[in-house]
Amino acid sequence: MTNNKTSVTYDAQDLWQKDRNHFIHPFTDFSLFHEKGCDLITNSEGIYVEDVRGNRFIDGIAGLWCVNVGHGRAEIGQAMADQATRMAYFSTFNNLSNAPATELAAKLAELAPSHLNHVFYSCGGSTANDATIRLVHYYFNRLGKPTKKHILSRNNAYHGTTYMAASLTGIASNNWEFDTLDHLVTHLSEANCYRRPEAMTEAEYCDHLVDELESAIERIGSDNIAAFIAEPIMGAGGVLMAPQGYHARMQAVCRANHILYIADEVVTGFGRLGHFFASEAVFDTQPDIINVAKGLSSGYAPLGATLISDELYAVLSTPQGLGGVLSTGFTYSGHPVSCAAALKNIEIIEREGICENVRDVGPYLERKLKTLAVHETVGDIRGSHFMMAIENVADKTTKELLPVEARVGDRVAAEAQKRGLIIRPVGHLSIISPPLIWSRQVVDEVVAILDEAFAATTLSLKADGYL
Ligand code: PMP
Repeated sequence: MTNNKTSVTYDAQDLWQKDRNHFIHPFTDFSLFHEKGCDLITNSEGIYVEDVRGNRFIDGIAGLWCVNVGHGRAEIGQAMADQATRMAYFSTFNNLSNAPATELAAKLAELAPSHLNHVFYSCGGSTANDATIRLVHYYFNRLGKPTKKHILSRNNAYHGTTYMAASLTGIASNNWEFDTLDHLVTHLSEANCYRRPEAMTEAEYCDHLVDELESAIERIGSDNIAAFIAEPIMGAGGVLMAPQGYHARMQAVCRANHILYIADEVVTGFGRLGHFFASEAVFDTQPDIINVAKGLSSGYAPLGATLISDELYAVLSTPQGLGGVLSTGFTYSGHPVSCAAALKNIEIIEREGICENVRDVGPYLERKLKTLAVHETVGDIRGSHFMMAIENVADKTTKELLPVEARVGDRVAAEAQKRGLIIRPVGHLSIISPPLIWSRQVVDEVVAILDEAFAATTLSLKADGYL
């Protein structure tokens, strides 16, 4: 790779050993880890990453849905280095502040829907969601409605892994053998057009989901419910597409019951669907709160933010007299180096027209991926713009899944990786969530690789007796 990085030589054997002995990886399958150890990614540039052996891959997952402006952006590195040497860290508690955090808050208020003008910083998506629920509870306590505590989430939602965020998460396998705060959360059905009840049209399915929300409110009582939280498109749960109009109708029901609507835009924000924020531009909703992370800094530094409406802020910021302090936040709330990275990242998104690129290349990616439907295991190809997934099935008509032991997602990902493309296997899904700088030419290259990868997967599944 040719960008102007200082070259470092790694001792791969030594690193593998240390990794195996000491690094507990998040979301680790220990059966595979003990056997295979890790893949060391050591270099990156633009749409590519390189492993320790010097193999180059197209990054089909933007790191982890986050490197929106692509890898190796020297100007983000420079902005971070400048800030780190000028003033790497100082508290933002007790009315102290720093210039990047202040500038970024103002910039986010400018970019967000017009009623969201106040920013609470955190360290990533989980902490943004966690902090949000504390703020929501605080808000209702201060309004004199202390019973409004319950949060409505959805099956297969992903909101993170701090205690509260994990409790909001509705992916059963993610919480396997972990505890959750069940007294605070109720999970409604996921909105999943592909696997909707067979006899229902999309419109009837939408009615059904809205009815379910109304029944839950009736059962639990609106006096006991604080908020509904939803990703505009469920990401880690499988890029699940809701029926047309779903979010706006869910929001209307929430509003009628004084239930706050929280949009978790950790994945959908910062261009992935062609806009800085998808809630209003794509889904016609005006959330009371939008949470962002990932693409906010394109992963160059950890950062999350909760964008809060004027109406909520008015309550949160009402003076309480002596002792009445908004006592929540993190050492790293508004970290100057992370905020400097985010400001430069946003400047690049605007300067290079990255949202426009997604609006142009995104529909092309969708169309080209749909050509993969010819493969025997490809049951559904779904998503929007640069947030796509392919669901593998044993039978396209019945939508029956392959057995878990077939590890179909892992097989497709391994076949793609052999051919120079990294995608993300999640169970029987193949997820594609690239940096937002892919061109049509890259899409053609990627789809050609995937075509071979799905063909090879079908052959290997047949050889092993799964098809
Ligand atoms: N919300 C959503 C929608 C996410 O996809 C994620 C991470 N994939 C999170 C929250 C949690 O973010 P983090 O891993 O930065 O804590």
